[in-house]
Amino acid sequence: MLKLYNTLTRKKEPFIPISKDKVKIYSCGPTVYNYAHIGNMRAYIFMDTLRKVLKYNGYNVELVMNITDVGHLVSDADEGEDKMAKTARLENKSVYEIAQKYTDAFIEDIKKLNISIPDHVVKATDHIKEMEEYVDKIVKNGYAYETSKGIYFDTSKLPKYGKFLSNNELDNLKAGARVEVDNEKKSPYDFALWIKAPKEHIMKWDSKWGLCYPGWHIECCAMSQKYLGDKFDIHTGGVDHIPIHHENEIAQAIGATGHNLANYWLHVEFLLIDNGKMSKSLGNVYTLSDLEKKKIDALTYRYFNYTSHYKNKLNFTWDAINSAKVSLNKLRELISLHKDVNIKVDKLVIKEYEDRFLDAINDDINMPVAISIIWELAKKKEKSNDYFELIKKFDSVLSLDLDKNNNDKYQDKNQDVPEEVRKLLNLRKIARDNKDYLQSDILRDKLKELGYIVKDTKEGQIVEKV
Ligand code: AMP
Ligand code: ZN
Repeated sequence: MLKLYNTLTRKKEPFIPISKDKVKIYSCGPTVYNYAHIGNMRAYIFMDTLRKVLKYNGYNVELVMNITDVGHLVSDADEGEDKMAKTARLENKSVYEIAQKYTDAFIEDIKKLNISIPDHVVKATDHIKEMEEYVDKIVKNGYAYETSKGIYFDTSKLPKYGKFLSNNELDNLKAGARVEVDNEKKSPYDFALWIKAPKEHIMKWDSKWGLCYPGWHIECCAMSQKYLGDKFDIHTGGVDHIPIHHENEIAQAIGATGHNLANYWLHVEFLLIDNGKMSKSLGNVYTLSDLEKKKIDALTYRYFNYTSHYKNKLNFTWDAINSAKVSLNKLRELISLHKDVNIKVDKLVIKEYEDRFLDAINDDINMPVAISIIWELAKKKEKSNDYFELIKKFDSVLSLDLDKNNNDKYQDKNQDVPEEVRKLLNLRKIARDNKDYLQSDILRDKLKELGYIVKDTKEGQIVEKV
């Protein structure tokens, strides 16, 4: 039976879906004012793995992910300059062009990571009406009030506010404390649902409260409940969302519908870089393209994510990612040795591995254990296509293209050759670059004498042992 750690109850719990037919999940998606970094990608790799674990367990899954193309502000609190507007100003583009550019880049990245596109990818700007109606419901139910700046959630109406998920010190929730504080707010903890747009604000919409724009938290309530119903199964996001964004989503849902929106709240721990935070000032906010520049492909990064449980911090270093690259290539190579070997494996042995794999993924998505089982199979002395097929089945969860040897386009195809051969190859490359074909042919013969045939391919020279 699948067990998941639920931030709501602070316990690992058996997963019981609302309906046996379909598990409904909502995942907080990217704010599209910049390229997503590899920390963000950890959250989406988790979202995808969770979805595939559920599918492996036989469930149908409906997954909704939002694209925040409005209203996520520079500060954690819901005031200050709009991040979208800031990038638009810096790149000299319209906010809509910025949103499109970074949404497209995001979709490209998640495809490279073998993340299946969610069933609904929904943009905030396409749901302004739904958000307005949502705010209206909260107001009508007496959980919000109007000031000259906007509509605020009245946190005093919910004694559990701040403790739904986080057991948070209320001080962390002081929305607006670090930026301009609205004196008309009844309490510093109250947060904006709907903001009256100052003249210079670019993204704004006509509403029953005049020209306004939505607060960030409202979009996830309005869109998740539109597509999945008032109550759905699972809500995911990174741990940074626990104390403010998700706490506020629950408050809003209670205000509008009288109850929490999701039964299970799952949170992914942070990716660290060199044991510290990712930050622009340290120049370590890496994207998938930065990894590609260093010949690390996206699936290597996905594999790297499986070296740690999603509830633990994961430390990224260049050394660690380079060893993940070597490991994944080695793993694929070992797996390929099982391919087409016509030896049968006892069904009971296969069943035992299937049970162990299922236990691992069902133990709160324990991917390090799942990976270790695959290694065990890959390393089996006796080769069999049955093992190959079994690993392929497990890979429907991991999505690492484990059945494709030499899949890493950045792999050094001549990894395992002796030093002497490598030197000759380097000399031959120089000769060919200088169009010195005579020298290049002499070197080809020398390589042959050492027992290596060299082929010239689009990816460069590749040697094979004769
Ligand atoms: P944002 O675009 O800032 O809303 O972030 C998108 C997703 O990435 C959210 O679920 C965040 O919680 C998550 N996230 C941001 N930084 C990291 C990180 N360093 N490690 C893991 N997840 C992160
Ligand atoms: Zn959200």
